[in-house]
Amino acid sequence: MPSIDTMNTQNVWKNVLEEAEQALSRASFHTWFRKTELASLSDGIATIHVPNEFSKEWMETKYRHLLLKLLRNAAEDIRDVVFVIHSGESKQKTSHRTASLPDTHTIPLPLTTPRINRETNLNPRYTLESFVVGPSNELVHAAATAVTKQLATLYNPFFVWGGVGLGKTHLLHAIGNAIAKEKNLKVRYITSEKFTSDFVSALRTRTVETFRERYRSYDVLLIDDVQFMGGKEKSQEELFHTFNELYSQERQIVFASDRPPRSIPELEERLRSRFEGGMIADIQPPDFETRLAIIHNKAKERGCSLDEETARSIAENVHRNIRELEGALNRVLAEAKDSAIRLSSRQVRRMLANNNNDSQHKVTFKDIVHCVSRYYDLEEKALFDKTRRQEVVRPRQVAMYLAREVLKLSFPSIGVKFSGRDHTTVMHACTRIQEEINSSGPITEELQTLHNTLREYEEGGEDV
Ligand code: ADP
Ligand code: MG
Repeated sequence: MPSIDTMNTQNVWKNVLEEAEQALSRASFHTWFRKTELASLSDGIATIHVPNEFSKEWMETKYRHLLLKLLRNAAEDIRDVVFVIHSGESKQKTSHRTASLPDTHTIPLPLTTPRINRETNLNPRYTLESFVVGPSNELVHAAATAVTKQLATLYNPFFVWGGVGLGKTHLLHAIGNAIAKEKNLKVRYITSEKFTSDFVSALRTRTVETFRERYRSYDVLLIDDVQFMGGKEKSQEELFHTFNELYSQERQIVFASDRPPRSIPELEERLRSRFEGGMIADIQPPDFETRLAIIHNKAKERGCSLDEETARSIAENVHRNIRELEGALNRVLAEAKDSAIRLSSRQVRRMLANNNNDSQHKVTFKDIVHCVSRYYDLEEKALFDKTRRQEVVRPRQVAMYLAREVLKLSFPSIGVKFSGRDHTTVMHACTRIQEEINSSGPITEELQTLHNTLREYEEGGEDV
């Protein structure tokens, strides 16, 4: 008979799979999730079995966030997810509790998810010291360091924004870790989604008072991914009050987001002005030298050393963001035989190219539509509708502009794609956006995020 634990694990996984199936395209779901299973749930860590190294990495880079979200929906106390290669033949047979330790002989890398602190929710691996500083992030790093030294008095709130995989989450944890190490204060890291789901379940169970007491007891509150607060009215209101309460008691609040406050759609004005009320700093993609330093650092953290040529060729081949850089490094380390690694740039290129070919995907019109509608929180269909509502008109113009700029389509053919609109409408849209760019409005940042996201697609993200 299955134990309660096993049943629980199976149920959780069943829920997660059902939701993942809805959230992803059929092909993605089929390719990546079919051969996975939840091996164990213990101490808040979900261990997921994946069939091979490639799938492990793919899950880590592409689906980690989604999985964590879905797992937390199914079992609240899950803090982290670990992917372990497991080539067991039978899915069913292995669904009893298997040892949750990774079989390290197949992975020459240490476990990438060290123990998350239960009290603070902080990952000890992310520190200010392990954050490599270069021109793209030195300001934000300096500001973060200053925050830890002058809590609540210097930059409050501190708001960090920047594209995917550039180190925002790392910095939030680093601030938290630095404070928790030196001072005996109550520090807490959470994502905005966690805040929202906690609040919603407090409403449901009529425990809002307890929720409030808890969130208002922190000396330092770090909230990640606040762009997801957009459109969630009740949670925004609650966050607004939480903020005021903490702020008035001189507690430090730090936010991170993939875009600046003024570009978060459907954000209440009063919350926006709170976000903007302290220090706002952005992180840009790293330059070559910084990438190189990061590669050397990360290799060292994993107990390996790379010769200069190997490191340089990785840095040359991967430029978009740091998460990808780590992915590429993992790939190189996984294939290397021992800990001192010396590869020619040709070998590195081939290694990285092999993987890229698998997933190389050129940005399509559909990607643009998908990406723009997600960014502005609209249904895709709205972009094609006749409506002239301002909240749709501008995103539509942005989509047209991107179709022109990224895909180099002609004005008439873009018109055709947008439900047969006239080419002059498309020209007008492109001119409008160009004007906004010239007058350095918020569009510059919006486009930057959109371009970043599209690049992710190019890397072979979701096959939409
Ligand atoms: P974001 O939250 O902006 O999407 P993360 O903070 O999750 O990005 O960073 C992605 C990965 O890149 C993490 O493993 C992080 O440690 C690493 N990273 C990002 N920036 C740096 C940096 N400046 N130095 C070292 N590692 C970094
Ligand atoms: Mg993040």
